[in-house]
Amino acid sequence: MKLDGKVALVTGAASGIGHQIARRYVEAGGRVAIADLNLDAAKAAAKELGGETDAIAVAMDVTKEDEVNAGVETTVSAFGKVDILVSNAGIQIVHPIEDFPFSDWKKLLAIHLDGAFLTTKACVKHMYKQGSGVLIYMGSVHSHEASPLKSAYVTAKHGLLGLTRTMAKEGAKHGVRSNIICPGFVRTPLVDKQIPEQAHELGITEERVVKEVMLGETVDKQFTMTTDIAEVALFLAAFKTNALTGESILVSHGWHMV
Ligand code: NAD
Repeated sequence: MKLDGKVALVTGAASGIGHQIARRYVEAGGRVAIADLNLDAAKAAAKELGGETDAIAVAMDVTKEDEVNAGVETTVSAFGKVDILVSNAGIQIVHPIEDFPFSDWKKLLAIHLDGAFLTTKACVKHMYKQGSGVLIYMGSVHSHEASPLKSAYVTAKHGLLGLTRTMAKEGAKHGVRSNIICPGFVRTPLVDKQIPEQAHELGITEERVVKEVMLGETVDKQFTMTTDIAEVALFLAAFKTNALTGESILVSHGWHMV
């Protein structure tokens, strides 16, 4: 699977899953814009991945239309085009719904859903002109399953499944395909933060959160790795035809099977 100079914009790529996808894309011959709220971390990631030729850092809050539009234009100015969008930036906030602050609900939905909408809108403008493009959304097992305490996250991740399928239909006549990757638990800063929070909310030990809540339904009690997700993201980006579109690919050690 090769990217041969293809240009990808990956949001939330200064950390975790997005960072690993950016690394894998550069290894496969792609050029990557590392778009993140955390500009210092994005710059460090871009430097590590090869500097100006293969990777650039782009300051972007995915919830802000002007920043998204400016970041996509920066990418196109630097690399001449945008072939692949990986809409990956995300956060997690857990509370029982009766205690869920409305501000946290709105913040989470904005990052996942407004972010996916705004980046898609800005990128397809360029993709439609060139008659090709790849949209990849970062969903979750929670695009298909629900868990207690995660009303906002489950709602957002189910929403992304809808956007994926809509974009498969809208993008088809422009040569643009759209798919969603749905990981199980991946040990990144996002998950590390949740372990003590869930232990507190559920009144159990952190060890039980990992064994029973996070890995309880997997077939082998293993965390999914960032490298597993990056391989699937490469497969979707480098796939030769538009046969594979509108699909949801679960990468979860069998936690959820469709
Ligand atoms: P992470 O915390 O390691 O990285 C998230 C990145 O997103 C950070 O660099 C952060 O600065 C950036 N970000 C946050 N808000 C932003 C904003 N408004 N604009 C731009 N960037 C922003 O998290 P991760 O675990 O790598 O998660 C990445 C994606 O994968 C998320 O969408 C998450 O929901 C999804 N996911 C993660 C897991 C998991 O277990 N880690 C499982 C399924 C899905």
